Amino acid sequence: MRIVLLGAPGSGKGTQSQLLVKAYGVPQISTGDLLREAVAKGTPLGLRAKAAMDQGQLVDDSIVLGMIRERLARPDAAAGFILDGFPRNIPQAVALEGLLAEIGRPLEAVVLMNLDLGVLFKRLTGRRTCEDCGRVFNVLTSPPGTPPHCERCGDMPRLVQRPDDREEVIGKRLEVFEAQTKPLVKHYADNGLLRVVDADAEVQTVFESLRRAVGA
Ligand code: AMP
Repeated sequence: MRIVLLGAPGSGKGTQSQLLVKAYGVPQISTGDLLREAVAKGTPLGLRAKAAMDQGQLVDDSIVLGMIRERLARPDAAAGFILDGFPRNIPQAVALEGLLAEIGRPLEAVVLMNLDLGVLFKRLTGRRTCEDCGRVFNVLTSPPGTPPHCERCGDMPRLVQRPDDREEVIGKRLEVFEAQTKPLVKHYADNGLLRVVDADAEVQTVFESLRRAVGA
């Protein structure tokens, strides 16, 4: 399986990637996660990326492409990969094509996780992450009165909000998606790789559509 999950922030790329990892044993490669890791460790690359991330802007292509090149060279990616949040613009997509051609492992499909902007806004403002294990919750869409429960960390997970999920940054991220990432839909439709999945459904329903879309 060599696929890209394409979709706006909050469309469920991370959640669905994790289900694919469990089902097919191929790694999820999320440039957002790699960048957050670099920021948390305070590496020079993380320090360069942080300002753009905090403002909801894209990080420099050179930084992201370096990370992807390195990650794809690791042995676990030989069996396949799920790219989550990459590519994010046309130059990244072109660079990815070159990189994959070099190693003789082209993409098999690009799946657009389709979702209304209003729903995205609600998902993002309610999103919280368990500080200990990284599991994602939504405090706005979980049933009223349900206390958060983390399968790994128990009944009192320490939930934190990503700095870029604050309301004032979300608008910017969605704008960046429309302007820079949306053109990839036509790009991948033109080269025959695009599949579209309705992402406004229960997690498991979306997963079934996704499996059908990639023929898995
Ligand atoms: P995500 O977790 O995918 O929503 O990414 C969080 C932030 O990391 C984005 O808002 C960007 O600032 C940065 N980022 C993630 N992936 C990329 C990428 N492919 N290109 C540029 N910036 C990225």
